[in-house]
Amino acid sequence: MEDNTRSDFGAIDVSNALRIDRPSLGHDVSVAIFRLLRLVVLEDLFGPAAAGQAYLAGFKLGTQLGVQSLEQFLELCSQLKIGIVKVDAHDTHMKVDIRECVTCAGMVPVGRPVCSFEGGLIAGMVSSILHVQARAREVTCIGGLGDETCGFEVTVIP
Ligand SMILES: [Zn+2]
Repeated sequence: MEDNTRSDFGAIDVSNALRIDRPSLGHDVSVAIFRLLRLVVLEDLFGPAAAGQAYLAGFKLGTQLGVQSLEQFLELCSQLKIGIVKVDAHDTHMKVDIRECVTCAGMVPVGRPVCSFEGGLIAGMVSSILHVQARAREVTCIGGLGDETCGFEVTVIP
């Protein structure tokens, strides 16, 4: 059997995954491949549990990206082209609105919010920034419910 524990192998982690060597094709891919994986394949594999799995995946990732401030959070959302993100934060209340959402903008509404990955990502990053356990609930959704934005209410779990 092949020895996969050699120290000269890389790990499957954020930094290795983001080492991209595609001189002809570059860093960008079609939104289609993300949506097919995120929506079609995950729903096929996990059914109704897909939303929870996607949220957990987003949350875990959100805590691993090293985001330390709201400015870095917005910069990363912009770099990754998650959408056009606006944050409204005051006191204990935080609302995040995404226009042109990578997951759902343009879809015929399916009758329920579908951007649980983004919700988890937001909650994970906010948890990282504030050193708390945050939760994000999607209250409006473009491709899920026909809204203008995918809107997330962020709350801190006491
Ligand atoms: Zn949405």
